[in-house]
Amino acid sequence: MWMDLLMVDVNGTMMQATISAGRLPEYRGRLIAGSMFTLSGFDVSRAAQNFRLTDSSLMIRFSDMTSFKELPAPVSPLPEEAFRFRNQSELVGLANTSTQLPDVVGEILCVKSTVSDPPEEKNRVMVTMKLDSDETITLSLFDSQAVAFHKQLEAMQVDPKVMVATSINPKMVGGRLFLNATSGTHVYFDKATRAGEVLFYQLVTRDTGLPSVAPLLRSYAKVETMSIAELTSFIVSAATQEIDFLCTGRVVHVDAGRGWCYVACSKCSKKLERSASAFTCVRCNNSHAVGALRYRVEMAICDDTGEATFVWFDGVMAKLHSLRASEAAQMLAEDGVNPEDTGLPPFIAEMEGKTYTFQVRVTAFNFTEHHRTFTITRVAEEHGRLPVDAVINNGGNDDEDDDDPSDETGGKAPDGDEDAGDSASAGGTGSSGKARRNTGAGPSEGVKKSRVV
Ligand SMILES: [Zn+2]
Repeated sequence: MWMDLLMVDVNGTMMQATISAGRLPEYRGRLIAGSMFTLSGFDVSRAAQNFRLTDSSLMIRFSDMTSFKELPAPVSPLPEEAFRFRNQSELVGLANTSTQLPDVVGEILCVKSTVSDPPEEKNRVMVTMKLDSDETITLSLFDSQAVAFHKQLEAMQVDPKVMVATSINPKMVGGRLFLNATSGTHVYFDKATRAGEVLFYQLVTRDTGLPSVAPLLRSYAKVETMSIAELTSFIVSAATQEIDFLCTGRVVHVDAGRGWCYVACSKCSKKLERSASAFTCVRCNNSHAVGALRYRVEMAICDDTGEATFVWFDGVMAKLHSLRASEAAQMLAEDGVNPEDTGLPPFIAEMEGKTYTFQVRVTAFNFTEHHRTFTITRVAEEHGRLPVDAVINNGGNDDEDDDDPSDETGGKAPDGDEDAGDSASAGGTGSSGKARRNTGAGPSEGVKKSRVV
């Protein structure tokens, strides 16, 4: 663990400064945005080539020798802020390159939030923004940042028009630009920054001054709708974020060859090995495991844009048909045939040709070579509105695929594998994006006076 600061010297050079966790207690209380310091006795090292926070190729490291003294009064007029704004076409150029975490300023058009009251575990806020182009882009914030953003919006008397977001990670998905917040992302509304204020007054002049009819924050719109082609390209673009999307598609084919159910360990949900007289759970190391029948059905589903394979697990399938897998097996029971070897239950076979609106969870497994399926986590009864209740928990472990790494990780994306899309990138516990310039001693004196943000 460490903390990154952004500092700016007299020449307007923004530089990243890093304080390791061990040294943090010594400095933490003084790290206040906008404060000015003299800094000497630091180490200089090369900045990482990935996810850069500044244009400088060098960075400052605090060491045992570092002297870090606050200047109570500015010695010269201080510019208020320094950002690295990128416009839309520059962001497209940076997308998926993992080279930089730039800043953006734009108009807020709409906010979709999955944050509930009280907040649940996984949270996401998607802000539809307009930068310098007519095309809109989506900026996503995750988990605690999403909750903080949601609460901040809720508490505001008037919906903000302008947003500045720092250290964001641009991604192209299905031909559209997506901006993902990182741990270093800070958000400033309207006139909180000089840059935001300029745009704010431009918009006020443009608008009639009437308050907008629709409230900005729309919690009911839980997840973004995506076409199947977009879903597929989401995988290709190797974004390893765990995200839910909404899809509408028609069942082209139910894959009877892959079966419709399996016997799961009642303890760990792993598929059991059937021997002549008993079930063995490899994971629980139990040769007399208690089994429970669970649904698992693969289907090819298409829309206008493409086709992909989707997996229906136990919870979703049972809910859709109001019938448990064990009950379905009773209906189909044949002497001497194991339930998992019987043909498809008619109600599953009849899903062919029907159109469903469903929620899909995209996780890191969708990206592995051997696992090209999407997991359906929630479904509307045929084409229509999704029920408002919570996503059915398939529990990841449901997946009995032998080549499926999710068996080992319980359906969760391996955290260490993130490519800085959301959390790990900027590294520290609170790097910040709003840097200030100061004038004063030049770098030639070997002392930097900087404002920390
Ligand atoms: Zn088990």
